[in-house]
Amino acid sequence: MFTERGHGMNLLDKCVRFTRAREAQAAGFYPFFIPIESSDGAEVLVRGEPKIMMGSNNYLGLTHHPKVIAAADAALKKYGTGCTGSRFLNGTLDLHEELEDRLARFLGKEAALVFSTGYQTNLGVVATLVHKGDYLFLDKLNHASLVDSARLAYGTVCRYPHNDMRALEQQLSQAPNHAGKLIVTDGVFSMDGDIVNLPDMVALADTYNADILVDDAHAIGVLGEQGGGTAQHFGLEDQVSLIVATFSKSLASIGGVVAGAEPVIHYLKHHARSLIYSASMPPASVATVLAALDVIEEEPQRREALWRNTRRMQDGLKSLGYDVGESETPVIPVLIGDLAEMIVLWKQLFDSGIFTNPVIPPAVPEHSCRLRISIMATHTDEQIDYVLDAFAQRVRQRAAV
Ligand code: PMP
Repeated sequence: MFTERGHGMNLLDKCVRFTRAREAQAAGFYPFFIPIESSDGAEVLVRGEPKIMMGSNNYLGLTHHPKVIAAADAALKKYGTGCTGSRFLNGTLDLHEELEDRLARFLGKEAALVFSTGYQTNLGVVATLVHKGDYLFLDKLNHASLVDSARLAYGTVCRYPHNDMRALEQQLSQAPNHAGKLIVTDGVFSMDGDIVNLPDMVALADTYNADILVDDAHAIGVLGEQGGGTAQHFGLEDQVSLIVATFSKSLASIGGVVAGAEPVIHYLKHHARSLIYSASMPPASVATVLAALDVIEEEPQRREALWRNTRRMQDGLKSLGYDVGESETPVIPVLIGDLAEMIVLWKQLFDSGIFTNPVIPPAVPEHSCRLRISIMATHTDEQIDYVLDAFAQRVRQRAAV
C-alpha cells in the first residue's frame, strides 16, 4: 500500500498492521466514534433510534438549558463564529476576561486564565511551572492530559499508586529539601469516580513544602456547597495552589481554566505555550460557560437532582450485584474486567436503547475493563430504572448459562 523502500519497514506499515478496530467493526461490536444525529441532553438519536444518554459528562444537563443556548446564540451574533487568533494577540475578547474574573471568584482564587481545552490547560500549566531541578508528583490514575503534561515538563517525575498518601509521603521525603515540588491530582478520578484524599495530601504538602494542583474536571458543578469543586467540598480552597477545570463537562462547553495566585496566573499568561501558540476559545463557547455559571448559582436544585440520581443508580447497580468500585460521585464505573464480557454487555445495553461508554486499556489497566456511566441531573427516574432493568436482564442471562 505504501511506497517500497528497498529494505526494512516503512514507517507507516504499523497503520496497516493495526486491524483490531476493523475486526470489531466487521463483527458489529465496535463501540467507538458513534455518530449522534440529534440530542436533547438526556436522550440522543443514533441511526434514527433513541438512546438514553448514560455516557455524557453533561452532569447538570446544561447543554440544552434555554438561558445557556440564548447566551451562546447572542455571542455568536455579536462576535462571530471564531476568534481566529491566540489570546496573546488578536484572540482576547472582553468576554474571555469577564469569564476569568468570574471563575477566579467561583473557585476562590485571586486570578484565572482560560485556555481552549482542559487538555491544553494541563499541558500548559504543568510544563510551564515544573522546571529542571523541580519535582512533579502524579497519581497513577491521573487523567491522560496530566500524564502527557509530565512528559513535557523538564523536572523529575514521580508517580505514586492511586490515592496512596503513604507512598506519596515516601516520594516527597526523598526529594531534595530545597527543590520545588508540585503534587498533581485529579479531584474526582475520571475512570473510577472516587475523590482524592485532599486533607491528607494538604498535610503532606505542608510538611514537605510542596504545592498542590487539583484537576477538577469532574468536580466543578458537582462537589462543594456551591459546586466549586473538590477543594470546596473539603473546605480547603486556601490550601490548594492551583485549580484546573474544564468546561467540557458540567459547564456545557469546551475550554479549560487554571485559577491561582495572581503572580502565577500572570506568569502562565506569558509563558504557557499551549495558550500562546493556539487560538482562543470561540465566543459562543465562552458565553456558554458564563451562562452555565449563572444557572449553577440560580438553580442549586440541579445539583441536588444530580446527587439523587447518582444514589438511585449506585444503589440499584449494587443491589444487582455489580461492582462499582470506590465510586462516590456521578462517575460510575461498572467493573467487568474481561473485555469480551464488557463488550457483550455494552452491545446489549446499546441495542436496548442505552448509550454507555466502554473503557479499555490503555485508559485503564489490563483486565480492568468497565462500562463507564455518567449520571445527569436531567435523567428521569424512569430512565434510570429502565437502565437498571437492562442491567438486571444481563444478570439473569448469566445466571441461566
Ligand atoms: N482532566 C480530566 C480529569 C478529564 O477527565 C478531562 C476530559 N476527559 C480533561 C482533563 C480534558 O478536558 P478537555 O475535554 O476539556 O480537553
